[in-house]
Amino acid sequence: MGKNKNKKSNVPDKSHLLLPNPIAATTPIIDTHTHLLTTFSAYKSKYSTGKYDTIWDFVQGVYYQRNVKAIVDVWCEAPVQPAWKEVADSAVSAQDRAEKWGGIEYWFVMGMHEAKLYDDAVERSILEAMTHSRCVGWGEIGLDYHYDNSPRDVQQRVFARQLRAAVQLGKPLTIHTREAEEDTERILKEEVPVDHKIHIHCFTDTPEFAQRLLTHFPNLYIGITGVISYSTNTNTAALVRQMIQTGAGPGAASPDGDKDKPGPRILLETDAPFMVPSNIYASLPEVKGRLPLCHTAMIPWVAECVADIVGDGWGSVDVMQRANENARAVYGI
Ligand SMILES: [Zn+2]
Repeated sequence: MGKNKNKKSNVPDKSHLLLPNPIAATTPIIDTHTHLLTTFSAYKSKYSTGKYDTIWDFVQGVYYQRNVKAIVDVWCEAPVQPAWKEVADSAVSAQDRAEKWGGIEYWFVMGMHEAKLYDDAVERSILEAMTHSRCVGWGEIGLDYHYDNSPRDVQQRVFARQLRAAVQLGKPLTIHTREAEEDTERILKEEVPVDHKIHIHCFTDTPEFAQRLLTHFPNLYIGITGVISYSTNTNTAALVRQMIQTGAGPGAASPDGDKDKPGPRILLETDAPFMVPSNIYASLPEVKGRLPLCHTAMIPWVAECVADIVGDGWGSVDVMQRANENARAVYGI
């Protein structure tokens, strides 16, 4: 019991979720992968006295004046949560986006991550969601041999099935892959046309694997989260360095390079609510302990991590601008 109490008092006050505006906040924030409902649930469970009662309150309260331009929300739970429709419908008209979302562009993707729960009914729900005007892709889907929540043959079969459906509709793909490099690469190459738009989200596998995908798929982009700031993960930083040096995209070497040439194919994301970028605490000296959730307004700190790794005259503003152009290329947002 006592332990529990201590634990509670270590959670920083909810006021610290309202972040200071870093210099990069002059550039609009686009979070290309966030789980909004889960983030809001995490907020409610950590801060039972918090004043935001709906996701719209939360978004307006925490993202307000943080220059958040757009989010890509991810629905991938099983069964498909009917709430998706209310949320997506509330962002259809410009007036609703202004009034309910504080002007933020709400977009979403949908897919089924838990392969063993995929069936015809789930697929029908996803296909219905794909016709919604705020839907910009199919995902997150893919193989996870770290957790192995479903048998691997089932994961592979359901992955291929969802890829086929998405390709048929021409929907951009949001891919999850973890410790499954060979099978992910093989299935993607079997099922997806080379010019299809692909976002490999929260990338943490080897740089060599990423390079093979980048070479094969010219419209494939690598999603970078706060995990890049964790000492347990060196792959993502190594990949970013390689993308700049080898030019996963020529012109990548300099932010002032030829504007017509593509830069590194990166996207910025939070994958909220779980991965707070560790460099954020330098901007929050008054915070004791660790913030219990991350959210979209933390994107500038992810960008700062990338800029620090790249060096070479890149600042977080350059990273955000490039990533925003890439977000437009993949999701049309
Ligand atoms: Zn995710």
